[in-house]
Amino acid sequence: TTFDDLGLAQWAVQTCKELGMPKPTPVQSHCIPEILAGRDVLGLAQTGSGKTAAFALPILQRLAEDPYGVCALVVTPTRELAYQLAEQFRALGSCLHVRVAVVVGGMDMLSQAQALTKRPHVVIATPGRVKVLLEGNPDIPPVFSNTKFLVLDEADRVLDVGFEEELRVVFQFLPKNRQTLLFSATMTTDLQTLLEVSANKPYFYEA
Ligand code: AMP
Repeated sequence: TTFDDLGLAQWAVQTCKELGMPKPTPVQSHCIPEILAGRDVLGLAQTGSGKTAAFALPILQRLAEDPYGVCALVVTPTRELAYQLAEQFRALGSCLHVRVAVVVGGMDMLSQAQALTKRPHVVIATPGRVKVLLEGNPDIPPVFSNTKFLVLDEADRVLDVGFEEELRVVFQFLPKNRQTLLFSATMTTDLQTLLEVSANKPYFYEA
């Protein structure tokens, strides 16, 4: 399989080449066409599998088609992972000049709220902080009124630290017709429960 076979636009295929990604990894070749087709996804994949590009590339392609509003909210368990995800989105979306906002605990709340109102295309967040911003500031929920993707990265870890309640609140602020993409190293009963409330007949990928 090549990136060309997956339904990606030429700019995306070219960007992958330039970033030293000669061909798709298995999680990419399975999940990218499903995400482009509009399906929800549950992907069981480890770090290092290429899972980030598996969701970032189709999100960026959708963003290129409709650049109005925050296209995707990506929720991840830690600050470090949030910054790493932001770097990958910026690299993969460099030719779109994608604006990425990072919203994590331990940083100034007011400047994060301001960053959200400066029309980012992609928001990367930890669950606690994005919940507080959504609930605490009436300017923030409208920022997500055209959001097409909710990504839950390292979902098992997000649930391990007990963020289920925060996630449920965050879900309520997002449009009902969004696509939900869950990625996790392991399948757990908590994840099964979350899947039932958040995803619609997801495509299931397991390495
Ligand atoms: P991830 O599993 O998303 O944490 O990705 C792990 C690393 O693999 C990242 O540094 C990516 O740049 C790299 N990577 C992702 N996709 C590919 C690919 N198709 N070919 C080579 N490297 C890749």
